[in-house]
Amino acid sequence: MAKQPMLKFVQIDRDMPEKRTAEERREDFDEIYAEFAAAKAEEQASRCSQCGVPYCQSHCPLHNNIPDWLRLTATGRLEEAYVTSQSTNTFPEICGRICPQDRLCEGNCVIEQSGHGTVTIGAVEKYITDTAWEKGWVKPAAPLAERSESVGIIGAGPGGLAAADMLRKAGVQVTVYDRYDRAGGLLTYGIPGFKLEKDVVMRRNKLLEDGGVTFVMNCNIGEDISFEEIRAKHDAVVIATGVYKSRDLAMPGSGATGIVKAIDFLTVSNKASNFGDSIPEFEDGTLNAEGKKVVVIGGGDTAMDCVRTSIRQGATSVKCLYRRDKANMPGSQREVQNAEEEGVIFEWLSAPKGFTDADGKVAGVMVQRMRLGQPDASGRQAPEVIEGADYVEEADLVIKALGFEPEELPTLWNQPDLPVTRWGTIKAEFLTGATEMDGVYAVGDIVRGASLVVWAIKDGRDCANAILERFGAATAVAAE
Ligand SMILES: Cc1cc2nc3c(=O)[nH]c(=O)nc-3n(C[C@H](O)[C@H](O)[C@H](O)COP(=O)(O)OP(=O)(O)OC[C@H]3O[C@@H](n4cnc5c(N)ncnc54)[C@H](O)[C@@H]3O)c2cc1C
Ligand code: SF4
Repeated sequence: MAKQPMLKFVQIDRDMPEKRTAEERREDFDEIYAEFAAAKAEEQASRCSQCGVPYCQSHCPLHNNIPDWLRLTATGRLEEAYVTSQSTNTFPEICGRICPQDRLCEGNCVIEQSGHGTVTIGAVEKYITDTAWEKGWVKPAAPLAERSESVGIIGAGPGGLAAADMLRKAGVQVTVYDRYDRAGGLLTYGIPGFKLEKDVVMRRNKLLEDGGVTFVMNCNIGEDISFEEIRAKHDAVVIATGVYKSRDLAMPGSGATGIVKAIDFLTVSNKASNFGDSIPEFEDGTLNAEGKKVVVIGGGDTAMDCVRTSIRQGATSVKCLYRRDKANMPGSQREVQNAEEEGVIFEWLSAPKGFTDADGKVAGVMVQRMRLGQPDASGRQAPEVIEGADYVEEADLVIKALGFEPEELPTLWNQPDLPVTRWGTIKAEFLTGATEMDGVYAVGDIVRGASLVVWAIKDGRDCANAILERFGAATAVAAE
């Protein structure tokens, strides 16, 4: 009888790829985890219990066939593992790096629930596709036949690019428009290199280009080309513009210089530190933490990226203020641990009430101490001020990471009929992205509000399917 290659979770402990030391990580913007060696990936994949009803798969937004590609990896059939993995995910090596696995696939792994430690699904997913790139298995789209229909996609983030990939593979003529100079959306300019190195994103962009997707960069729809023109040029249009309006703080002193938005800080850092671009605001210190006392306000993943970026830029101190406690923060606990290791100090239960300045330049944050009170309507304990416990936290750079909202697209694009929700996100059908405007679809954060890369990919793929069905080309995708 053949040897059972799986269910090794009792004999083999969970092990992640090697993590670089905090001292080393602080010095550069490289990813913090090494790659699994082949034997280690096989060993870790063999821990999977091959559940009949795999909860990891049902909690992955893409319903990746996780048990299948774990088994194929464990048995050394890596090319088949890659084929299986990429059949449901456009960017598996990206999701393997940056999905919050503890809340998705790994958070629902059955062996974790029996106390053995989850299978390292994300790390194996990354290993499979990184190896596929290395071995030359990842190929540009080569449609069996060209189609005459064309689709215009506004926004080159993961949602737009996932749609572009599926449509192009089916032979559709695809043009992606983006106001940035490089494609990738937040993969390129939001998420820092220590979570996702930029060559991983750039090689995907090139693959799409090699497969025949046309990119029109530095093109702001609504300014450089009108939305009407895009609609007239294409048989269908996908809006994948993400959410970029930063939530703000209106309080005494908030107009001082040195109080900046997280997205501005991270975009400039990504350009300067990862691409070596010359950016005046980085070079003149406006958006650079070097030699500064930095305070970041917020408790989400964007705040975690700002504190860790500040450390790498050479800040003298980095503190993070969050109004709830550690257990109730929205950001990933894994990222908090990484930040703490790298020297970030968290001030839990602390909220700003104003800013002090010296000659118009921020000098400190007036902080009020909070405690958690009764649950509010959402069921979360509401933070309450502790009277008389205020203090001033010194700061030369304050970064506001308070979340994002959609820009007002109907106004910006002069499209009063573009249907939006009361939050300003685009109203679109859940499983197709179709809006009430004929031939206009929307995907990703602009529909969901600030969300996750994996959800944007899912939306992009679902929307591409719906468009192909509209074009009468559903079989082309089924054969993918
Ligand atoms: C700092 C930060 C860290 C994050 N970390 C993670 C993480 O670790 N894991 C995770 O899963 N998610 C993370 N996210 C969330 C994730 O990045 C987003 O959910 C995802 O990128 C949304 O994809 P999208 O395609 O909808 O939009 P985006 O990635 O935002 O792309 C939208 C694109 O549209 C372009 N655009 C906008 N308006 C126009 C216009 N008028 N004309 C032309 N182009 C336009 C933009 O330039 C951009 O390139 C993070 C977000 C931020 C801000
Ligand atoms: S895409 Fe994300 S949630 Fe799905 S298996 Fe990969 S890491 Fe897990």
